Amino acid sequence: MPPESIPIHLLEESPRDECGVVGVTGMEGAAEKVFLALYALQHRGQESAGICAVNQGEARLHKRLGLVAEVFDADVLDALPGTTALGHVRYSTAGGGQLANAQPIMVQYSEGDLAIAHNGNLTNAHDIRKRLVQEGAIFQTDSDSEVVIHLMARSRHETVEGQIDDALTYLEGAFSLIISVGETLYAVRDPRGFRPLVLGRKGSGYMVASESCALDIIGAEFVRDIYPGEVLRLHGSEIKPLRSLEPAARQAPCIFELVYFARPDSNVFGQSVDRARRAFGRQLAREHPVEADAVLAVPDSANSAALGFSEESQIPFELGLLRNHYVGRTFIRPSQADRDFSARVKYAPVREVLEGKRVVVVDDSLVRGTTSGSLVNIIREAGASEVHLRIASPPVRFPCYYGIDMPTKEELMGHRFSIPDIESRLGVDSLGYLSLEGMVEAVEDTGPFCTACFSGEYQAPLVDLEKGLVDPGDARCC
Ligand code: AMP
Repeated sequence: MPPESIPIHLLEESPRDECGVVGVTGMEGAAEKVFLALYALQHRGQESAGICAVNQGEARLHKRLGLVAEVFDADVLDALPGTTALGHVRYSTAGGGQLANAQPIMVQYSEGDLAIAHNGNLTNAHDIRKRLVQEGAIFQTDSDSEVVIHLMARSRHETVEGQIDDALTYLEGAFSLIISVGETLYAVRDPRGFRPLVLGRKGSGYMVASESCALDIIGAEFVRDIYPGEVLRLHGSEIKPLRSLEPAARQAPCIFELVYFARPDSNVFGQSVDRARRAFGRQLAREHPVEADAVLAVPDSANSAALGFSEESQIPFELGLLRNHYVGRTFIRPSQADRDFSARVKYAPVREVLEGKRVVVVDDSLVRGTTSGSLVNIIREAGASEVHLRIASPPVRFPCYYGIDMPTKEELMGHRFSIPDIESRLGVDSLGYLSLEGMVEAVEDTGPFCTACFSGEYQAPLVDLEKGLVDPGDARCC
């Protein structure tokens, strides 16, 4: 990299997602199926990608930093034979961003080669790890997921099922896990069901994945969500529910998956993500009506919500902003930078749509407020006469400890400022957030949800934080 250049990902806020997991059994070319599925889950993590494939009991692993398409090619996939495979895409939520923390994590286990892929964040991983280290355990990674392997290895149970069961009872927080032992896969979802995990079928084989869009890409049929607390054993064409974890008194699927993370063509938590976002947009229009000529989405994550807003308000939806999808890996000279630089690289205004118009700009969420602030400037420069900002979720006021990367409280615009302050800081003619009640009501058929980032009501104990084992600042990335 030339010294005067800075990678654009250091300049922009996104991408900073979490993780995606996938596993298949009983399918020829399992690694290739997992590769395609990871491609569909790329939005859940862009830092590293990995696949572990098992052939006649022998597991092979390939993982690297980079996007799925950069990490795998035909030769790499040919070297991963077998009918069972699991894969992972990652953005560093817990643990640093080095290759050592990429997943799946593979070890030689007493019962055969073992690999694990985890989405979510354990809220007591440091506590468990501290105890294990005191007792002599040696960790290979900083990742919270590795504690699961240690807990299994130390279990006194004789069967793998018993060892998994045993290990799971120690865990707190969010975990959608796929574990392979030999050619058998185990799919697990924590008792509150924070992170999604769905089951699919293709031919006589099975598939589990973070989102249903990963099933669609290989033509697998969606069967159902893995239930919160469920442990499923998948082997070839056999599927067997094992003893479930004690169900939580209150389930807590993450509502932010519906707001922002999951892909709109996915079905998670028993509902279509697109439908949920449209419902948020319609409710937003009811709560914060405005006289305007056009509704614009901040593409792509707010498209469905903006369509919902337009349907309800009868204000036409216009393509007033375009998103450049190729910016992630570009290098740009800082001399080209101005205050709104990273937003300008990512979003372009369509002058013909905006000139002289009163526009409603719908975004899915406001986190630090940097994107929206810049977009307002860009839209005004392109000639809009009024800019009304509508956010299809409540103010993000609290960090997430269950696997979504949110900045510290101090960096969250919704925590720092009142709504009138935000309005004037962003320079909009009006600002309206979807209410917490309105958001929850819009998807009440499938709730209750975890709304901690909006409400501060944390659903699973924050053991590491309470014991001072993680810094609240570090915990931002949990
Ligand atoms: P900000 O400029 O920090 O307010 O960014 C808000 C935008 O980033 C929203 O429009 C979302 O689409 C997106 N976003 C929200 N949460 C996250 C997250 N945890 N990781 C990456 N992008 C996010």
